[in-house]
Amino acid sequence: MENSVNDLKGSDIRVRFAPSPTGHLHLGGARTALYNWLLARSSGGAFVLRIEDTDTERSNDAAIDQIITSLSWLGLDWDEGPGVGGAHGPYRQMERRQLYADAAERLLAEKRAYRCYCTPEELDGERREARKREVPYVYSGRCRNLEASVDAGNGGGGRGRESVIRLKTPSEGHTLVHDLVRGEVSFENALCGDFILVRSNGVPTYNFAVAIDDTAMEITHVIRGDDHLPNTPKQIMVAEALGKKPPLYGHLPLILGPDRAPLSKRHGAVSIEEFRSRGFLREALCNYLALLGWSFDAESTLFSMDELVEKFSIERVGSTAAAFDMDKLLWMNGHYIRELEPVELAERLEAYLPGTKLAGLPGRDGNPDIDDLVPLVQEKMKTLEDFVELTDFFFLPLEFEKKALRKLTGNDRAAELLDAAAEALQQVEPFDIENIEAALRRKADEIDVKLGKFLQPLRIAVSGKTVTPGMFETLSVLGRDKSLDRITNALTLRDVGSQSSITQDQEDAG
Ligand code: GLU
Repeated sequence: MENSVNDLKGSDIRVRFAPSPTGHLHLGGARTALYNWLLARSSGGAFVLRIEDTDTERSNDAAIDQIITSLSWLGLDWDEGPGVGGAHGPYRQMERRQLYADAAERLLAEKRAYRCYCTPEELDGERREARKREVPYVYSGRCRNLEASVDAGNGGGGRGRESVIRLKTPSEGHTLVHDLVRGEVSFENALCGDFILVRSNGVPTYNFAVAIDDTAMEITHVIRGDDHLPNTPKQIMVAEALGKKPPLYGHLPLILGPDRAPLSKRHGAVSIEEFRSRGFLREALCNYLALLGWSFDAESTLFSMDELVEKFSIERVGSTAAAFDMDKLLWMNGHYIRELEPVELAERLEAYLPGTKLAGLPGRDGNPDIDDLVPLVQEKMKTLEDFVELTDFFFLPLEFEKKALRKLTGNDRAAELLDAAAEALQQVEPFDIENIEAALRRKADEIDVKLGKFLQPLRIAVSGKTVTPGMFETLSVLGRDKSLDRITNALTLRDVGSQSSITQDQEDAG
């Protein structure tokens, strides 16, 4: 059966994302969802979410919730499903079992399928035999010919045994998949064998349920990972046995890790939830995922969601596997953080911080608000998590980084410079950025030390770090009292610290 993208008017396009709810939504699944969503949104077609929960041992409701949370966070909304009002869907295969049972009955009645009574031991025997002969295992079709006697009501050779339902498949010829990404792929029918449609417990197999749903839901394009390419001829056979036109298929190459092995947990974060909790923005993830397999041209890398909807086309999806590059994603995330209006960044942080060590702290007990800090750090942030690392000293009891403490205790002039800074800051009125800057510059001139050198111990004293947001801005947000307290504290620490610095230096030398 031939069909092509061009047969369809845009708005006729119907695509689906069909996750199995066995865990979190991962980068690969999210990319599949995104490409389907973009295809639907760019054509005015429909995007369907279908939960494939027929593997009852591994499927669970918590995973469904997580998948939905991740899709919603990414902004990938779906169009239809069971339910009332706006809150529809998703479809769940276990709620559609009657449909699969009816289809199986029909195929049995039409003699396109048959009951198979082979026991696991018998099938194991066939498998062993194939191994011995060093040929791929294909079910022998032993029960195909029992059907007449079974239908006659005597149970045939399977009397009293449990049965599965198998599809009668051609033993010769090829099934062709006109893949939108891979081109034409041919599968030898002899290697397929009469595969199972319904298990002995009545639960449909993946290939059966998918093919029924894709045709019943009038899905026009199945865009999914290429681990499903070998299933495609089976799904085409089921669709055709049911007298339905199969959809068009497009299989996306795997996402690889930096070592070019398939991306997995071993490479670090892979679930969308982990990326969210590490402070990535949905705009950056969607932009980045769009480029893991699709390109608009040789140069362009930054695409807003609207631009993706406008420019995405399945024709420009490539067939070579793309490698995940964390540095590029971080760069992109930094870009999108800088692009946000400060008030919007503050809103994102408001939603993000409750899951971090700064939960509940901004704006409380004289602490600065998020809004006060955004201008200090927006340019430096690559993730929302960076906000936490860059600003924690405004909220939490001071903790000195090892390196910072070493620099402070190892600096012979630290006490003198800190005293001078404290003296300058005492005079500043009002305690704002310009006045602080002017006072510290004047003081540095007065004691004849370069500004950078002058600020170094001060920076460490008030933050415990060697790298911070701009010093004048930091001091103005921290306020005079806290700044002076921290300087005093650092001066005492320094006295104690010189001892440990000597010890450390000796250790280093030793
Ligand atoms: N449920 C399958 C999976 O999560 C996807 C099936 C499909 O897209 O056809 O891998």
